[in-house]
Amino acid sequence: MKTEMTRIILASRPEGRPKLTNFALDTAPLPEPLEGQFLARTIWLSLDPYMRGRMSAGRSYANPVEIGEAMEGACVAQITESRHPTYQVGDYVLAPLGWVSHGLSDGTRVIKLDPKQAPLSTALGVLGMPGMTAWTGLNIIAEAKAGETALISAATGAVGSLAGQLARAKGMKVIGVAGGSEKCRYAVETLGYAHCLDHRSFSNPRDMTKALAEVAPDGIDIYFENVGGITLQATLPLMRQHGRIPLCGLIAWYSGEGLEKAMPLPAAFFSILSQRLKVEGFIVSDHYHRFGDFLSEVAPMIADGSIIYRETVSEGLESAPTAFLKMLDGGNFGKQLVRVGAE
Ligand code: NDP
Repeated sequence: MKTEMTRIILASRPEGRPKLTNFALDTAPLPEPLEGQFLARTIWLSLDPYMRGRMSAGRSYANPVEIGEAMEGACVAQITESRHPTYQVGDYVLAPLGWVSHGLSDGTRVIKLDPKQAPLSTALGVLGMPGMTAWTGLNIIAEAKAGETALISAATGAVGSLAGQLARAKGMKVIGVAGGSEKCRYAVETLGYAHCLDHRSFSNPRDMTKALAEVAPDGIDIYFENVGGITLQATLPLMRQHGRIPLCGLIAWYSGEGLEKAMPLPAAFFSILSQRLKVEGFIVSDHYHRFGDFLSEVAPMIADGSIIYRETVSEGLESAPTAFLKMLDGGNFGKQLVRVGAE
């Protein structure tokens, strides 16, 4: 019987790009659940770009992880001991346990999962937070309509791959931007994008604008913004009047790199004003009251194969820091997961 748990803690705050030395592996005695708590073993840990923000102390929409604490993260886990009235030993749950092999919970932000309904890992990806983000950005924020043209950045990632497929299913023309020829080929051949441009093949935004104009000669109605950087700058001049930009993420700038080369704010504002654009930042957790609507639309599309999803799995909790750093650089293909324990 196990008596120890392992966790990955934040060892130091990164300056710029995070490094492996910002993390440390730690062991501790396995905790005992108190009345009203359960203990669960992690099966899947989700790695997400927002975790970069939690490593820094600056002001954000959520508190940072403290030095010496386990990194924050959502997990699919199985309950091994329970003193909670709602959760029994053996139950599968989605729970914010963090980068840990085992975790205690009092049931806050916990959802029971039925492994017969969908593969357990999808609760962290296409049927979980990233999927809900894609659905929210496209439908609630951008109010996407058939016949419009959508551009999706990080087009093959956890959020982007669903945003692109949902846009196509709505009858939109969908163009992707992704890193590398393999991802671009997959976007077109497998995900159904009309075109996909490799952002790594452009050294300046002007050339990228020209290339985008060739595949979107009538302009872009919706830019689903996941990255910032050169892609944002290249896209703004092509936005159609009354276009919408659901501002979902700015991963190119999360470590502060490239900001000195970014487009000046007045130039961006002139495009927004002259084209009457709606740019709306959104955080998916503000929209969770619509989670049922999201699931009832997307779950059947996963079940019948009309939406496909892809996962990159890294093996073992100790691999999480390396996998996380790779993901920030585009090393993931679809949803990045860590297999911490067997299903
Ligand atoms: P992804 O699975 O898309 O993985 C991140 C991807 O970002 C990488 O694979 C890489 O794709 C791309 N990327 C990294 N650096 C750059 C760069 N410099 N320029 C262009 N692309 C880059 O992650 P998610 O789908 O989980 O998240 C996508 C975005 O959505 C992130 O910005 C994230 O923070 C945001 N998000 C926002 C939420 C919200 O509530 N607002 C909720 C969830 C996610 P490639 O190889 O194609 O370049």
